[in-house]
Amino acid sequence: MLIKDPVCGMPLDQSTTQFTANFLSKQYYFDSEYCMNSFIEGTKIAYFSMEIGINSAMPTYSGGLGVLAGDVIRSSADLRIPLVALTLLSKKGYLKQKLTPDGWQMEYPEEWDPSKFMKLLPETATVKISGRDVRIGVWVYEQDSLTGGTIPVLFLTTDVEGNTQEDREITDFLYGGDEKYRLKQEIVLGIGGLRILEALKINVKKYHMNEGHSSLLTLELLKNNDLNPDKVKNRCVFTTHTPVAAAFDKFSYDLLSEVLETEVPEKNLKEYGGSDKLNMTLLALNLSKYTNGVTEAHMEYSRKLFPGYHIQEITNGVHSYTWTCSHFRKLFDKCIPRWANEPELLVRVDTVPDEDLWEAHMKAKQDLLDFVQTSSGLQMDTNALTLGFARRATEYKRAAMIFSDIEKLKEVNSQGKIQFIFAGKAHPKDEQGKNLIKEIYEFKDQLKGEIEIVYLENYNMEMAGKLTSGVDVWLNTPMPPMEASGTSGMKAAHNGVINFSVLDGWWIEGCVEGLTGWAIGPSPDQVISDEQRRKREITDLYNKLEYILIPKFYQERDSWIGLMRNSIGKVAYYFNTHRMMRRYATDAYL
Ligand SMILES: *Cc1c(COP(=O)(O)O)cnc(C)c1O
Repeated sequence: MLIKDPVCGMPLDQSTTQFTANFLSKQYYFDSEYCMNSFIEGTKIAYFSMEIGINSAMPTYSGGLGVLAGDVIRSSADLRIPLVALTLLSKKGYLKQKLTPDGWQMEYPEEWDPSKFMKLLPETATVKISGRDVRIGVWVYEQDSLTGGTIPVLFLTTDVEGNTQEDREITDFLYGGDEKYRLKQEIVLGIGGLRILEALKINVKKYHMNEGHSSLLTLELLKNNDLNPDKVKNRCVFTTHTPVAAAFDKFSYDLLSEVLETEVPEKNLKEYGGSDKLNMTLLALNLSKYTNGVTEAHMEYSRKLFPGYHIQEITNGVHSYTWTCSHFRKLFDKCIPRWANEPELLVRVDTVPDEDLWEAHMKAKQDLLDFVQTSSGLQMDTNALTLGFARRATEYKRAAMIFSDIEKLKEVNSQGKIQFIFAGKAHPKDEQGKNLIKEIYEFKDQLKGEIEIVYLENYNMEMAGKLTSGVDVWLNTPMPPMEASGTSGMKAAHNGVINFSVLDGWWIEGCVEGLTGWAIGPSPDQVISDEQRRKREITDLYNKLEYILIPKFYQERDSWIGLMRNSIGKVAYYFNTHRMMRRYATDAYL
């Protein structure tokens, strides 16, 4: 069988190569001794994330953070970056969402069978939690690329023989339970993860913490390095993902001493993690040599939150191939060969004829509307301007903003038909998020027969792919500066879907008004009261829809297709994880 060397990518014949080795219970083949040694013994980046969205059928993610982690892994496999990823098994998932007829969210566990997707490794590690030894098992998922690259993703589980029932449940629910449950999960991920890497004899160059959930790994590193912080810093990379100080995980030292046994003295803990509570963001920040925010605006905001710290930025992206629908893949394959592993080439989208772009878009739109029909029974109009809004249902995302003035919205609709597709889950404890869904349901009923609105149940990656490729416009109305980055609009751009968004997170860098899409509300550096800002946002929302989007969509189709083209050639070509991972490699890993 013809395969490729996972290090250099050279094609080789599996039956004749003399260089072969077993790694994480799998046989690998190489074209030279150098590649073999570098793969088995070479140093790797250990990428830690509480959630990873690697496969839509594995519910081990809740939103953007996990999907980004999945895209990091997919791009690393394509680029053959030596990386190994770690996360929790989340055996019962995040939540399965069902909506009652009036839009109230009901949650169910989303149990899944890991053995359908991966292998259980024989190695285990042990951590002490609440005075008990807890054994950690590890499943390995292989993310393989056509380039020969392969990234092992390690899923940690405490559902292991010998553990008490309570301890077996630690890795059940992503973001489930109370504070103590979260702390236990973070011990398993950070400290357990590090020990699993040791048990697997993986030689680690850098520990990359994707958000602060894994920062307890720094304590284990301190312990292993005679409490020398510089030695730890040299090995750690930290990416912060939220601009909201209240969202940082913090644990009281009382809880900590009850649950965690550490050889790091409390004096040092408080020095690195904060004097009143252990702040996981601060801990990671104090013990990482390289820290970054996920957009330029987020970097600036993080610098304000943590004055004196050296915080850099690497703007997020999405995995181009994954988030480009089949119709556009076909088109790009024909007109822009090599685009999938070199997304910068999308800058050559001008070689694609207008008719072909429109045809691919209409096929994707039909796929989505067929999906809406089967899942909700609603028949939407293929020719109507269709706006999509799907993301976690939480207050700052302001999903209901488009309904701020119903009379105005009806007036807009009379100028050209519009329709809306919504989706998104609320965290079980987020009452406001759940109320938002209910509110959208009320508007949906109120506007029935006039403006078609659908709220799709159980948003996940597969649905995100359909939505971000099948609508005409991707709407986003977060409350600045809460959206550190956002990534769904980048998925939309890969499919020629046009962004219409508040200037927050990535869109500050992506938006060239009227060329790559449109902004909602004023520029973020404009000094303006919150109330005035909101007013401007609502005015823009309705006015641009009525006077720019609708006329362009219905009467100036060529000009509309020009913007679709720019979404691909001026947005997607940059906002992808291939560019992002090359940045991490040069700035953070080397
Ligand atoms: C891409 C994605 C997200 C992130 O969307 P944002 O608009 O950036 O918040 C969330 N959930 C799923 C399932 C996704 O695929």
